[in-house]
Amino acid sequence: MPVNALRQYLEMLKNNGIKELYKPIDTDKTALLAELKAKYSSCDKCPLSQGRTNFVYGEGNPNAKAMIIGEAPGKEEDLSGRPFVGAAGNLLEKMLLAINLQRTDVYIANIVKCRPPQNRDPEATERLACMPYLVEQIEIIRPKMLLVVGLVAAQTLLGNTNTLQWHRDKVHEFMGIPVYVTYHPAALLRNSNWKRPAWEDLQAFQKDYNKL
Ligand code: SF4
Repeated sequence: MPVNALRQYLEMLKNNGIKELYKPIDTDKTALLAELKAKYSSCDKCPLSQGRTNFVYGEGNPNAKAMIIGEAPGKEEDLSGRPFVGAAGNLLEKMLLAINLQRTDVYIANIVKCRPPQNRDPEATERLACMPYLVEQIEIIRPKMLLVVGLVAAQTLLGNTNTLQWHRDKVHEFMGIPVYVTYHPAALLRNSNWKRPAWEDLQAFQKDYNKL
């Protein structure tokens, strides 16, 4: 098409309210995430590869407005290859339901994709090795909000050693995306006294989510 004709065609589209000629659709992102999951599934960039049963990449809505980010797979996740299953996963689903979200509305991933032995915290070197995978997931999904659960995930994402309280007290930013921090569901299962403050965190998150 000659340049002038192309310009006229673009003008016509613009005048008819069509401002984007190409927008990634679900299948693009789904296929890309599946491709990357397969590509990285045999990753051995850090020692966590040696003890894993399954690489736990992440799952959910590729066009999610919110991503949930945890720390690392646990036993159930390692066995199933899925993030947040078992008791902590069930509680996460209840937490989401409490703010009118289904698990299928969000995308769920962890900082590290392989289970640390005995569920210990992932080492700094392991987190550093694995972070590029999460950054790439965020780049593809481009969520509008990040809900980070637990101290290790918050410290890693935001690059500090501050307390959970410090993280919960304000909205942060990562890759230009607002970051909300609350308790990890596994922590809430251990200490029910944290359920009330966690509910307050979720309400603050929901208030802003509903404005999207
Ligand atoms: S935790 Fe991440 S960096 Fe380490 S082996 Fe697993 S996928 Fe690779």
